[in-house]
Amino acid sequence: MSAVEIPQRPTLFIDGSWTKSSDGKTRPTINPYDAKVLIEVDEASAEDAQRAIASASHFFKTSDWPHKTFEERCNLLSRYADLLQAHKSKLAHIETLDTGKTLAESEIDIDDVTNVFRFYAKEALKLQNEKTISGDLIPSSVQSKVIHEPVGVCVLITPWNYPILQLCWKLAPALATGNAVIVKPSEVTPLSTVYLTKLLIEAGFPAKSVQLLTASGASIGPTLTESKDVDLVSFTGGLATGRHIIRSCAETVKRCTVELGGKNPNVVFADCDLDLAVDNVLTAVFTHSGQVCSSGARLIVEESIADRLVAGVVERAKQISMGSGLDPKSETGPLVSAEHLGKVEAFVDIARKEGGKVVCGGMRPDPKQHPDLAQGYFFLPTVVDHCDRTMRIVQEETFGPILTVERFKDGDEETAVFLANDTAYGLAGGVQSKDHARAERIARRLRHGTVWVNTYGAYTPQAEWGGYGMSGNGRELGSKGLDEYIETKHIWAEKKPAMMGWFKDARM
Ligand code: NDP
Repeated sequence: MSAVEIPQRPTLFIDGSWTKSSDGKTRPTINPYDAKVLIEVDEASAEDAQRAIASASHFFKTSDWPHKTFEERCNLLSRYADLLQAHKSKLAHIETLDTGKTLAESEIDIDDVTNVFRFYAKEALKLQNEKTISGDLIPSSVQSKVIHEPVGVCVLITPWNYPILQLCWKLAPALATGNAVIVKPSEVTPLSTVYLTKLLIEAGFPAKSVQLLTASGASIGPTLTESKDVDLVSFTGGLATGRHIIRSCAETVKRCTVELGGKNPNVVFADCDLDLAVDNVLTAVFTHSGQVCSSGARLIVEESIADRLVAGVVERAKQISMGSGLDPKSETGPLVSAEHLGKVEAFVDIARKEGGKVVCGGMRPDPKQHPDLAQGYFFLPTVVDHCDRTMRIVQEETFGPILTVERFKDGDEETAVFLANDTAYGLAGGVQSKDHARAERIARRLRHGTVWVNTYGAYTPQAEWGGYGMSGNGRELGSKGLDEYIETKHIWAEKKPAMMGWFKDARM
């Protein structure tokens, strides 16, 4: 693919126009496959962020966008879904170049978010039906109804692992409900977000309904999250940043939803279909090189099949073909950055020191065997056997291709459930068993927002996504995903007004 198709500068979209940063700063965006610079993007300053907030706030307060019918806005969502499909190939290329994931994965992401826009184009229409309240608790002279309005200026902050997906999960409900949005993608992978913003304008969304700031979170984050003119922050990212953002939103009591990390258990019982379980374990942990918030990184397996299961996983993990995401032969790509590669390597050292046995991977690919991978941020699929719940490698999110293995005694469901819930997080988990009653029983007891049975990783826009515990405090997707972006107002209107008589009127 030629560089021409990568979005070019300027990459800031403020007050309805594409612009460079006020101080002229730029930042290189790196291709993780070969560590080469893709392009320089404009690096928004705090002053640019202030300008975006002022524009969004003025637009929200003075334009007819929040007052349009749900139907008008939902038509734009449908048009946007069509555009996503029309631009699928280019968008997928850009996502793959920027993140390193395979083209097939990028294409799936675009199909998925097309469905998200199509889903909300229908789901938001339901809000049009204002709820009239009547019955014993309401005097007959009163008309009482509940209506829905947009929240206002919404800041949408997204991570680097699923730039298109995580943004669209927020954009679709935020725009369907008439909010003005300010988008802040990760500084590591901003390119697809620039392209998505261009498509929003092409679809016919009002130019000032969306502002885009490509920038470092550390530098402009506080300007966005502390501003009294921002009404909502929706954040997806790591726990440490999430905590920081919650604190920062507290001062102005703004609405704040955070979707954070996970340390997700995959519980395998001896009565599973072993080949299927091996495949599910592999998919759960090594897809996108483990850089998935719901990655099934913690294998919890019944003792009698543990050795066979681990042997099966190791055998297949060694066959995973790594390479450029643009090469159809690649099954997985590199890690996103040199910095992240360093973190993942450090976790393997920690695991070894803690007594874990690295039975596969644990290092970068050998440059003599794989000279094509030598420049990029590749790390081999890694299995650490003989782990226990006290280890850091078991409790902390590595966000890399690392599977830890813990065993429980045969038939000891209590311990399996205890281990699976033994985490500060609670985003997702899996259960592998041919006994459907058992699988259902265990699934219900897992304190995680999504549980997969005899599979791993699928989702639908119709069902809510989010975490228990430190995995976050809100829900995206589903009908609750809309709730995040609406204010609910009750209007109580007296049709036969009369004095209420609480206080004496001296004239009477
Ligand atoms: P980070 O928390 O590092 O960053 C997420 C976003 O926050 C980035 O855009 C970042 O900008 C920005 N940011 C950083 N500091 C601030 C700040 N002070 N104020 C405002 N914004 C800030 O996460 P990663 O990008 O490293 O993403 C990986 C994490 O995301 C993992 O923990 C993963 O589990 C989680 N995640 C959760 C999902 C879920 O559905 N629950 C889905 C996908 C990922 P910059 O890049 O410039 O630093």
